[in-house]
Amino acid sequence: MSSLAIIAAMDSILRYARSKQNDIIALIRELVECETPSGDSAGVSRFAELFAERARDIARTRVFPAGQFGKHLRCEFRLPGAKKEGQILALGHADTVWPRGAIGEMPFRRARGRLYGPGVFDMKAGLVFFLFAMRALRDLDIPVARSVILQINSDEEVGSPSSRPLTEEAARRSAAVLVLEPGTGLEGKLKTARKGVGGYTVTVRGRASHAGVDFEAGANAIVEMARQIERVAGFTRLNRGITVSPGVIRGGTRSNVVAAECCVEVDVRIPRHRDQAYVERSFRSLKPFDKRCSIEVIGGVNRPPMERSAAVRRLFGIAQSFAAEMGVELGESLSGGGSDGSFTSAMGAPTLDGLGAVGEGAHASNESILISRIADRTALLAKLVARL
Ligand SMILES: [Zn+2]
Repeated sequence: MSSLAIIAAMDSILRYARSKQNDIIALIRELVECETPSGDSAGVSRFAELFAERARDIARTRVFPAGQFGKHLRCEFRLPGAKKEGQILALGHADTVWPRGAIGEMPFRRARGRLYGPGVFDMKAGLVFFLFAMRALRDLDIPVARSVILQINSDEEVGSPSSRPLTEEAARRSAAVLVLEPGTGLEGKLKTARKGVGGYTVTVRGRASHAGVDFEAGANAIVEMARQIERVAGFTRLNRGITVSPGVIRGGTRSNVVAAECCVEVDVRIPRHRDQAYVERSFRSLKPFDKRCSIEVIGGVNRPPMERSAAVRRLFGIAQSFAAEMGVELGESLSGGGSDGSFTSAMGAPTLDGLGAVGEGAHASNESILISRIADRTALLAKLVARL
C-alpha cells in the first residue's frame, strides 16, 4: 500500500469503529455481566472461555491454567499482510476488585452518555476495544507488519503472582506493548510512567509483662514501634516522588499487658528503578531505640516502576498524532499505581499504558465509561497496531 492509500485507510478506521459502536457496547455488557472477582477461578475461567469464543472469528486462542486464580488467555490474531516480523503485545486483565453478586447492586446500565457496571472501566471495555480494533484492520484489509497477541491475565488486581512469568515471556519477544488499562481522568490521558510499588512489614518484638505489677520488666513493642514509624514515614522524599506510607498497624493483646509484639504494613512507591536501593537501605537500617526490643523487616518492591524512556516518548508521540488526526487532544500522565505494564517495561519492551476506556470510578461504585470516546479509542488502537 502507498503511504497515501494508508492515510485514506486510516480515516476509514474511525468510521468503522463508529459503525460498530452498538456491537461494541453489546459485548462490553456481556463481559461485565460475566463476573470475575480476583481469585474466583470459576468466574474468571468462564470469562476467558467467553472471550475466546467471541474472538474465534479472528484469533487463535489458548488458555493457561493458573489454579486458584482462573485461566489466563492469549489470542493470536489473524490479520492482513504477508510476512510478520516481530510482535506487538496487547495486555489486559479479566479480574476485577468487585465481589461476586456486585452486578446485582450495580447492574450494567446505559445512562447520561455513559456505561456503568463493575469492571466496565477497569478494564473490560478496553479488551473489547482491542478486539474490534483488530476486526477493523481485517475488515478494511489494512496490512499489519507484525504478529499481534492479546494476553488477558486472571490475577492483575492481586499483584499478578501467576501471570507475571507469562507476561514477561511475551514482553521479551515484543517490539511494543499496548496496555488496555483505563486512561487517566475524563480526558483519557495515556500513562507513560508508573511508579513502582513495594510493601514492607516491620515487626517489633519486645517483652510482655504485667502493666501494673511488673511494669519495668516489660519492653513495650508498641512504644518502640511508635518511634520507628516516625522514622519509616520519614523515608518519604516528596521531591523525588518517593512515598512511604504506614497503612496497617497491629500490636498488643490487652490493655493491662505490656505489649510484646507490634507490626506495621507499609506501602512504598518509587518513580525510578534506582530508588529501590534507597528504600531497601533505609528499611534495613532500622535499629531499636530500646535495646531490649528487636526489629524484623520483610518485603521489597514487587512491581518495578515504568519509566518514561525515549522509546516510550516516541510511542506516545505516534499515538498523539493519530489522536490529533481524529480531533482528540491526547495527554500523558504519571500514575502512582502499578499495572502489568510495569513488568513489560522492566523487561525493556517499550510500553504504552492507559489505552483502554475513558471514564472514571475505578474500584468505586460510580465506575463508568464515556460512550462518546468508544470509537476514537478503538480506532487509536487499530492505527497503532497498523503503524508500529
Ligand atoms: Zn486494571
